[in-house]
Amino acid sequence: MADLHRVLVTGANGYVASWIIKQLLEQGVAVHATVRNKSNTAKYQHLLDIAGQTPGTLHMFEADLLELGSFEEAMSDCDVVMHTASPFKLQVDDPYKGLINPALQGTKNVLDTVNKTSSVRRVVLTSSVVAIFGDNQDIEKAGNRRFSEANWNTSSSADHQPYPYSKTLAERQAWQMVEAQGRWDLVVINPGFVMGPPLSEQSGSESIRTMQQLTDGTLKMGVPELHMGVVDIRNVAEAHIAAARKDEAKGRHILVNKVLTLLEMSNILREEFGSKYALPQRELPKFLFWLVGPTVGLSRKFVKRNVGYPSAFDNSKSIEQLGINYIPIAKTLTDHVRAMERETKEKMASA
Ligand code: NAP
Repeated sequence: MADLHRVLVTGANGYVASWIIKQLLEQGVAVHATVRNKSNTAKYQHLLDIAGQTPGTLHMFEADLLELGSFEEAMSDCDVVMHTASPFKLQVDDPYKGLINPALQGTKNVLDTVNKTSSVRRVVLTSSVVAIFGDNQDIEKAGNRRFSEANWNTSSSADHQPYPYSKTLAERQAWQMVEAQGRWDLVVINPGFVMGPPLSEQSGSESIRTMQQLTDGTLKMGVPELHMGVVDIRNVAEAHIAAARKDEAKGRHILVNKVLTLLEMSNILREEFGSKYALPQRELPKFLFWLVGPTVGLSRKFVKRNVGYPSAFDNSKSIEQLGINYIPIAKTLTDHVRAMERETKEKMASA
């Protein structure tokens, strides 16, 4: 187990990064955190508040993925770099501008600076299961009909599933760059769909948007049969830290607890919250999504290759090598909604 001297976390205000930073600060680690705009303190006030109550120290820096060299100051004297910053949006006008360039050029930019910063011994990259597969239908080509770390997404492109494409290109870039040198190593975390209590309502992450849509009535008429590997945000943060601390950690790590459909998630929430939320109660037929999908941002190709296909993941490496003890999924989902409720209450109290 390595001591963590000073850790850089990119995209610090994000949903995932905020939990990583919280756990690092609780463990007394010195954290260098980058945000795009340091003067917009509202986006990271929650981190300053956590730093005020924990033994670790937090320094904020400004850096943009697309600005060459902008991570240099923040990375100075760090032994570990956790690169989480990357846009997580499922719908963008321009896939290159909105997703692919920041993911790919951003990873290259951060790792170019790692190459120049002699203190860095390890990079922990936040990739995704979508660098492992693109469409649920890809399960037909995966060994044992289960996705594992050996699989790569070969079905996404800029036109079809640009977010998975952006994550695949970025992770491949990182593996190429680590192989081209011998000083630092790379450990990759590939989370499924992350759910669990957000530390701030400022993030635009699809994780937060999905839970809002499940509970605010947007999906009450029904949902597609879409199977997703889900994982708790707190386990994802733990995995990043274990990946940084464990000398023997190597390669990619799938982080998925359970495969659930949107309806199964709603049913779990209904058990806890009864009729408090207008949760979806049924699945609508695939052909309906095929017909109307394009009007609600789901292409026919996406519907064809994803709706109705089961999914399965081999998460054994995360348990055996990173020591992850998966939080029960009902707790993940209910804690997420309770955190949203607390946030609303606090907003109303301060209005
Ligand atoms: P998020 O809350 O939207 O965080 C994304 C972060 O990336 C934000 O801090 C954002 O900064 C930053 N970013 C985007 N473009 C940038 C740029 N040009 N320069 C600097 N920073 C930029 O989303 P998240 O869910 O936490 O995602 C974080 C990471 O986890 C991503 O790499 C994502 O692919 C990965 N991941 C997420 C999930 C999930 O289910 N949430 C699953 C697997 C992997 P701004 O706030 O300024 O935009």
